[in-house]
Amino acid sequence: MAMRIDLHVHSNVSDGTDSPTRLVFAAQEAGLDVIGLCDHDTFDGITEAREAGRRIGLSVLPGVEMSTRYKDRPVHLLGYGCDPWNRPLLAELTKLRASRVERLQAFLDKLAELGLPLTEEDVAASRGLSPSLGRPHIADAMVAKGYVANRDEAFAMYLGDGKPAYVERYATPILEALALIRGAKGLAVIAHPWGPGAKDVLTGDALAELAKAGLEGIEVDHTDHDARSREMLTQLGARTGLIRTGSSDYHGTGKLHNPLGINVTRPTAYQEIVNRIAARGGVGPS
Ligand code: AMP
Ligand code: ZN
Ligand code: FE
Ligand code: FE
Repeated sequence: MAMRIDLHVHSNVSDGTDSPTRLVFAAQEAGLDVIGLCDHDTFDGITEAREAGRRIGLSVLPGVEMSTRYKDRPVHLLGYGCDPWNRPLLAELTKLRASRVERLQAFLDKLAELGLPLTEEDVAASRGLSPSLGRPHIADAMVAKGYVANRDEAFAMYLGDGKPAYVERYATPILEALALIRGAKGLAVIAHPWGPGAKDVLTGDALAELAKAGLEGIEVDHTDHDARSREMLTQLGARTGLIRTGSSDYHGTGKLHNPLGINVTRPTAYQEIVNRIAARGGVGPS
């Protein structure tokens, strides 16, 4: 049987709802052999996930999903195989996580103005022990208060980009993020390039420019992309020499349309990623 590889999943170390251990068990149940754990702006779940994976025979490729900026648009950048102790990268991830916390009060102020009061404690309760505070945690606090039915509704009505309670935050300039990932012996792949956010700036020319700056892959098979986008991205990727991946972007019960394994990465693409990481001394799959 062919290997089933899902290279972009989240745990409750950021805004997913499964602990890293539970996530690994769920992945095996879903028939996967490999997952790439890519929590937002932190490596904190990797060790636990790899230990759980080792016990049951599921391979975990370490990853991170960095919040970056390209031409003033948000771009999510996946870094695979990075040295988790690399100083410059760790410093930048710390800065990103700090900016997530710094904007919380502005969210609470806007929500209060909209007649939807929340306290820091409400958000702390839904955040749990996650070192990376995300809008989904605020959404969960709104659900707990009965303001909205689920995360989707919270984003659609209030928290999504440009919505009435939206607050901007710091994101790493993408060229800097590419250099940091490469400097940590990792491999950079743009997550859901044509999802909401950066579709109109991530043109073929832009991808070619970013490839010259160290980008090595793009996520093509993702629920944010329709069949036509996938076809076009496959062609653009082939033309610019970018590796094409596929992933679920699983968030547990936080994103119901993204079950584990709904999109997967071809074994040849995965092997290429693993080979490149090994060649530069990065951290390979467990
Ligand atoms: P933040 O990290 O605070 O910028 O929040 C953005 C994150 O929220 C994204 O990375 C997604 O994981 C998640 N997200 C975005 N839209 C939705 C939605 N409609 N429902 C659930 N989660 C979402
Ligand atoms: Zn997320
Ligand atoms: Fe993302
Ligand atoms: Fe993600």
